[in-house]
Amino acid sequence: MALVKEKKQEKDSEKLTEKKSDKPVAKLAVQGEEKVRAELAKGSKVSIISLVDAMIESAFKSRASDIHMDPEESRVRVRFRIDGVMHETYELPKGIQSEISTRIKVLSGLRTDEHQAAQDGRFRISIKGDGGAFVDIRVSIVPTYYGENVVMRLLAEQAGVFNLEGLGFVGKDLEKVKRAVTKPYGMILATGPTGSGKTTTLYTILKILNTPEVSIVTVEDPVEYAISGIDQIQVNPRTNLTFAKGLRAILRQDPNIIMVGEIRDEETAGIAVNAALTGHLLLSTLHTNDAPTAFPRLIDMKVEPFLIASTVNVVIGQRLVRRICLHCKVEKQPSEGELKSLSEILPPEALKGKMVFYVGKGCKACDESGYLGRVGIHEVMEVEDEIRDGIMHRANADEIRTIAVKNGMTTMIQDGFSKVLEGLTTVEEILRVIHE
Ligand SMILES: [Zn+2]
Repeated sequence: MALVKEKKQEKDSEKLTEKKSDKPVAKLAVQGEEKVRAELAKGSKVSIISLVDAMIESAFKSRASDIHMDPEESRVRVRFRIDGVMHETYELPKGIQSEISTRIKVLSGLRTDEHQAAQDGRFRISIKGDGGAFVDIRVSIVPTYYGENVVMRLLAEQAGVFNLEGLGFVGKDLEKVKRAVTKPYGMILATGPTGSGKTTTLYTILKILNTPEVSIVTVEDPVEYAISGIDQIQVNPRTNLTFAKGLRAILRQDPNIIMVGEIRDEETAGIAVNAALTGHLLLSTLHTNDAPTAFPRLIDMKVEPFLIASTVNVVIGQRLVRRICLHCKVEKQPSEGELKSLSEILPPEALKGKMVFYVGKGCKACDESGYLGRVGIHEVMEVEDEIRDGIMHRANADEIRTIAVKNGMTTMIQDGFSKVLEGLTTVEEILRVIHE
């Protein structure tokens, strides 16, 4: 059901994108388009197998993270999510809709005679030729009024390329994360909505921690990247292996470092805090909008404030924004609209003096979108005495934030704005993710 919720958020963010962006997101020249079009041109002689393969290959080559197939009254709309933004890519005839979903069900080992229930599965395909790779694909099929809605998430084997600097951690934030990583026990929490890159941040930290001297175990839903040297357990509702049950099992093996994919219920929260209290370094994510909200959220999950105060080392809040394409980047003057929007979210002193912004004009390398790749914007909150005091007194998120800022925390918006001034991203992007 999580995917259904995710889908709704996507719809919302999409609306925002359309409103905020002056470039239309609807049309985009995707890679590998010829093959798909050639197959569709065969009309009634279309090979469903080749068509599905061609669409997946096209998505992979366009760097898409998801393929959405939405059935409508008279067609099936196919959209790719690239750098976090949805793009309309193909339109399939209504007549082949059920054959397409049957093919995807066969690939992912799902029941082809089931049309009324939601099903989840996965499969792996190899993309041949230049830039070929194995791609794991997670599939979610949900029945809708016009037929089955299919979402495929492409999980490429790319965990190896990340480091903290590459994710966009800079200056004090980078130091704070590095400091938290050297502590032998306690909690490191990453927060943000779905698709904010928090799991990637934790994987990157795990890679730093992954040395032969320590044992690391994770319980995840799903296991997104395989890391050698780490025992990774997949949550499985069918066998009743939940985060909480997985975590209990892990603790019996007494590893040094544990990663729990997400803390979303009281039971998991309780076990996680206890693990951190008894000498383990525990990494996890919380689905909150920002770092300070992590504490009230844990209290909502019935964790005692003094336990939170004595276990949490650091909370990272984050979002992902698109990077300006380096191949077509040009300077631009801030528009009045941008300055007005910025004045609503930044202190006046941040907007003094002459500023230069940047923008991607659009080129072949970025498929005319002006963006290529993504970078994180962060706020890193270290739990020091004053914050600890606030937690003990059940301070709300705003109060915690005020203390953190007074003691030098850079907020996510400030970090984003400094990345605008550095020419890494645009004001448009910052506003898009902040308002999501
Ligand atoms: Zn470009």
